[in-house]
Amino acid sequence: MRIDDDDRKWLVDLLGESIHFDAPMARHTRFRVGGPAMAFARPCDLAALKRLTAGLWDRRLPYRIVGEGANLLVRDKGLRKIVIVLTNGLNAIRYSHETTDRPNAVAIEAMAGARLPALCRYARKDGLSGLEMLLGIPGTVGGAVRMNAGTALGEVGDALRSATFLLPDGRMETPSRAELDFRYRSLRGKEGAIVLGAVFGLQRNGASPDQLKAREQEILAARRKSQPHPADGHSAGCFFKNPPDGPPAGALIDRAGLKGIRIGGAMVSPRHANFIINTGRAAASDILALKERIQETVSRRFGIWLSPEVEIVGE
Ligand SMILES: Cc1cc2nc3c(=O)[nH]c(=O)nc-3n(C[C@H](O)[C@H](O)[C@H](O)COP(=O)(O)OP(=O)(O)OC[C@H]3O[C@@H](n4cnc5c(N)ncnc54)[C@H](O)[C@@H]3O)c2cc1C
Repeated sequence: MRIDDDDRKWLVDLLGESIHFDAPMARHTRFRVGGPAMAFARPCDLAALKRLTAGLWDRRLPYRIVGEGANLLVRDKGLRKIVIVLTNGLNAIRYSHETTDRPNAVAIEAMAGARLPALCRYARKDGLSGLEMLLGIPGTVGGAVRMNAGTALGEVGDALRSATFLLPDGRMETPSRAELDFRYRSLRGKEGAIVLGAVFGLQRNGASPDQLKAREQEILAARRKSQPHPADGHSAGCFFKNPPDGPPAGALIDRAGLKGIRIGGAMVSPRHANFIINTGRAAASDILALKERIQETVSRRFGIWLSPEVEIVGE
């Protein structure tokens, strides 16, 4: 798949300076690895996004929406797709007009390109609780809905009231929480749909912004204790899903004696065995080789094949 001169001209006419060709994905993922995407597009509003995706369908050019690339591993030869990022103009956060008869309930609406820390800050400053499960998770609202991101405190699906999607045929729909099939780190049945935004149900339960901030700092401090430090290198969070039964992936990798092992510039974090770290000069192939070493070793020792939580994409 290639972009020809006509496609290129159409993309430049549509997006001006908001389109870059042969954009290295290492700059757009938290792992800081990965070859180039065919193009990197930042539509400035919903109308531009709709025109872009409709045109890409007509021209049979494949695309992928990317948030902050906090859960993506792009292979070294890159991604033969147009990468679309919504953080440019589709990132507003505001009170929602949705109502409820529950006392103290408040709804907040966030567009898909809004960053999770900004959403948590918005809620906390207004004395609203209910997003504690998202504290410390990097990425955008769109990525979090797609991944059903979460922590031991809960997951996105627990706080969500509805989400709005742009479907491949250009229609928009807003299913309620009850109509969405959230699973462990996934949302079923919405493959190919673009998350445009979500409404979150929060509570005003009398806690002041300062009290909420103190609670937030406790949660973040606990995360910092158990996770690799930013200075250790780059990662995409937990690499493997926890198996449905039995010990968590990190415990299995640790018990298999793999903490600290390296392949090239990739290392199993000595602080948390379910984090693969790019210590600075890793290629995607180093991370993939380490992933396979971990899967094979854990499988030999415990008879469990670990599945990646990180999405592996590209050539
Ligand atoms: C240090 C660190 C810690 C982390 N800790 C956690 C944690 O505690 N819990 C947790 O769940 N995750 C964690 N993660 C993983 C990551 O933060 C989450 O998966 C997050 O939700 C990814 O968001 P993103 O916007 O970066 O999505 P991306 O990584 O860019 O994309 C993830 C997937 O979502 C799709 N996508 C993105 N936006 C949209 C959209 N608008 N519409 C449709 N599809 C879309 C992408 O195509 C891709 O398939 C961590 C990552 C890091 C780097």
